[in-house]
Amino acid sequence: MDVYEQIKNTLGPLRVLENEPLSKHTYFKIGGPAKLFFEAKNVEDLKLAISTAFELKVPYVVLGGGANVLVSDKGFDGLVVKNRAAEIKLVGIKGTIDKNGKGVKNALVWTASGTSMNQLARFTIDQGLEGLEFLLSVPGTVGGGIKINAHFEVEKGEFLGNRLVSAAIFDPLTGEVKTVQKDYFEFAYDMSKIQQTEEIVLEAIFRLDTSKDPTGLWKRAMDNVKRRNEEQPIGIACSGCTFRNIEHEDAMRIATPNITTSTGYIIDKLGLKGTIMGGAKISTHHANFIINTNDATASDVIKLIRMVKQKAKEVYDLDLKEEIFYIGDFD
Ligand SMILES: Cc1cc2nc3c(=O)[nH]c(=O)nc-3n(C[C@H](O)[C@H](O)[C@H](O)COP(=O)(O)OP(=O)(O)OC[C@H]3O[C@@H](n4cnc5c(N)ncnc54)[C@H](O)[C@@H]3O)c2cc1C
Repeated sequence: MDVYEQIKNTLGPLRVLENEPLSKHTYFKIGGPAKLFFEAKNVEDLKLAISTAFELKVPYVVLGGGANVLVSDKGFDGLVVKNRAAEIKLVGIKGTIDKNGKGVKNALVWTASGTSMNQLARFTIDQGLEGLEFLLSVPGTVGGGIKINAHFEVEKGEFLGNRLVSAAIFDPLTGEVKTVQKDYFEFAYDMSKIQQTEEIVLEAIFRLDTSKDPTGLWKRAMDNVKRRNEEQPIGIACSGCTFRNIEHEDAMRIATPNITTSTGYIIDKLGLKGTIMGGAKISTHHANFIINTNDATASDVIKLIRMVKQKAKEVYDLDLKEEIFYIGDFD
């Protein structure tokens, strides 16, 4: 029996799909087939799938919401695990609770890593807990969010990682699961250590403070949603921001207005807004978004990415770095 049959037998032959088009599972609506595709419905499923692939030495990748990836037109020659392990609960509270149920200072919220960040935001807002309301309507899962340190208003410290206490992660070198604390991730803007180590987040615990203004939480969250809807293209296939923002020193050197580090500004100044390559286009609404307007291929998107990087280097001596992650082989 070959290794792929062994994976199917372990995970359940009817639950493992062959040649599943990954375009169905990404916000970009781009991506060739996965040799094997499995949906993990809980943390145990997720652990079993990746540890089986690990033991059989079959390449694997975990897909969260698919909101921050570009999948190759050739797909992925291994096991793609779609993380649908969505669960969320309060696991601890701190403070002295009076007879009216008041007095909670902060609370610990546990999530399975396939929980959507939107769901996490809704849950915490409903509980009157503040600190993650900025995630309302941000696409993707807690696992994908930890990998990129999902954020909204950076200057206000609105980073997912800021609220993390600990997480259980799968180590792809040893095949073991370990619990690590927040500091382990070395969070920074668009950065966490697991981008290098390729560790997989299975579950996470966040600490949130009780809001002094619980009714204001929904308003704040909805204001953010409104702003995001104004600033970003809505209802169009895309993968969010394509590039990370530039360094502060580069913004100073280039003397951007108000020293903005926005890569969207740079792409706009390069005159590339609206550039089309096949079915892919640099959004005229927000230049850091590449959108799939007409059955774009990954190769169309790659051509645009290369063009932007080349021009940014030539004109501003900038080495732009992608925010999106690549899955599969690219020539
Ligand atoms: C319209 C739009 C708007 C957006 N707006 C914002 C915004 O305001 N703020 C923001 O921060 N982001 C934004 N994004 C980007 C996106 O929401 C985030 O990057 C999000 O964290 C992606 O999560 P995901 O689960 O979809 O990850 P995926 O796209 O599925 O995966 C991304 C990477 O994480 C890895 N990964 C997935 N799950 C795990 C796991 N459990 N453990 C380890 N690695 C994992 C994948 O293998 C891949 O390398 C936006 C995206 C879109 C499409």
